[in-house]
Amino acid sequence: MPYQVLYRKYRPKTFLEVVGQDHIVKTLKNAIDNDKISHAYLFCGPRGTGKTTIAKLFAKALNCLSSEDRPCGECPNCQAMNEGSFPDVIELDAASNNSVEDIRNIVENASYRPLQGRYKVYILDEVHMLSGSAANALLKTLEEPPAHVIFILATTDPQKIIPTILSRCQRYNFSKVSDTDMKRRLEEILKKEGLEYEAPSLDIICDLADGCVRDALSYLDEALAYSEGLKTSELIEMFGLLTLDKKMSLIKDIKAHRLDDALVEVRDLYRKGIDIKALTQDLIKIFKDLLIYKETGSIDLLSVLDKKRAQEIATLYDTHSILSSIDILLSALDAYRKGQDVLSSFEVVIFKLANIKEEAEIKISKTTVFDEEIEIERPKKKEDIELDLDELVLTKEELLSVLKTASKEEKNKDLFIYEDLRELSFDPKKRKYFSLLKDTEIFADNKDMIILFTYSNEALVHQINDKMNNQELYYFLNDEFGIDKMVYAINKEVRDDIARSFRHIDDYDLNGIVIERYPKKEGKKDLEAKLKEVFGDVEVMED
Ligand SMILES: [Zn+2]
Repeated sequence: MPYQVLYRKYRPKTFLEVVGQDHIVKTLKNAIDNDKISHAYLFCGPRGTGKTTIAKLFAKALNCLSSEDRPCGECPNCQAMNEGSFPDVIELDAASNNSVEDIRNIVENASYRPLQGRYKVYILDEVHMLSGSAANALLKTLEEPPAHVIFILATTDPQKIIPTILSRCQRYNFSKVSDTDMKRRLEEILKKEGLEYEAPSLDIICDLADGCVRDALSYLDEALAYSEGLKTSELIEMFGLLTLDKKMSLIKDIKAHRLDDALVEVRDLYRKGIDIKALTQDLIKIFKDLLIYKETGSIDLLSVLDKKRAQEIATLYDTHSILSSIDILLSALDAYRKGQDVLSSFEVVIFKLANIKEEAEIKISKTTVFDEEIEIERPKKKEDIELDLDELVLTKEELLSVLKTASKEEKNKDLFIYEDLRELSFDPKKRKYFSLLKDTEIFADNKDMIILFTYSNEALVHQINDKMNNQELYYFLNDEFGIDKMVYAINKEVRDDIARSFRHIDDYDLNGIVIERYPKKEGKKDLEAKLKEVFGDVEVMED
């Protein structure tokens, strides 16, 4: 037997086999059972949601000879329709038969009695494609239809149908098939075909199909042509999909302001044929999960993220930033719809996402409130900062001298701080350092100093450089991580400036610059030594 595509092979032969559209199926079945038949139906909805399938089933049910459960699929009429040889169901695609002559033919024909069944059923697909005069010709028959004629009009675009036709029809709105219904159908088919499948592969197909059964089965066909059974890894490769980890790393790059990396990645994906629109939708799903996780702490309610991933990025965002991210992504979808260039729209999205301010920052810059954890007043004007705040201020020369002796090795040695940061957020005594460090990255690192960079958070620069905070941070890094280095924060402006100056570093006199550390704290060890010095060999009691 020649291979039959799944969509045809598993086209529902009874109402029971229809995927989704439960309420429509139920209403139509009732109409059949109670013999309350209207003369014109309009099925509206996105492509692949079952409009023609249900239209055909309904046509079949109208002519089925069985006394119950129509269409039975067994009686001579049902069988003739299965084979496409039933004379009284006439299917027409209005996209290709849209002239007034085509419709006049139908109208003329409609007046003859059915040859074999009870009703003559006309299924007109894509009915919004009819020309104006053709639509008017149809309207006449719809107004006074012969008793034996039933029209089922289907359309993806009901707004293009003239109101006089709309008002003659009983209208049904088809919706996209839910992933749950779709998955159930895919599982049934795979079982009937005796094929193995990995559960996540069904999610992938549902995602790709976006509520369209026909597409889902085509993807399934394609995947099965590639190998026996469904393997997640193969699907990812075949359909040029982005794995969740790739999307996560894109989000992390954007959040950490590694925008050059993010842009290179996205352009590369675009070249490889990744659907940027689908990527945008996927990112919305991730942010939605993140929001749910942040607000409810529930893992069960998440649709794409697992616990590990949710926790991983939840620390990077506050609720306000997540909501702003979703807004930005939604308006990008809108921009694509309006025909704007997808790649460049998405590139703009990257910058917008990277520059979202956290709610705390907005409050600080707008109202000069105290940060509850850090308690440093954020003055409004730059002059005020210099007057009011006791901040560590490094000269350009000092910064350049650090830059000159900075090395990748020093930086890599210190990077582990960030890995341990999240733990700190749970410790009330150390949360402050988590807040100070979490939105920074190491810009330059030598044996004396770590220069931290923060892109969008201006307040944070001042908080880190505030002398009291700065000193505490110094002791903290020393105690917690054994790092004996001063810390200094810079914003984008300063970073760009010293990066520019670094190119002409020979123009600067960097001789004799020493980065001084804060005086050593009297640690327990020092205290012990002092006691020994004074009292001789004593045992220090632990408290
Ligand atoms: Zn039948």
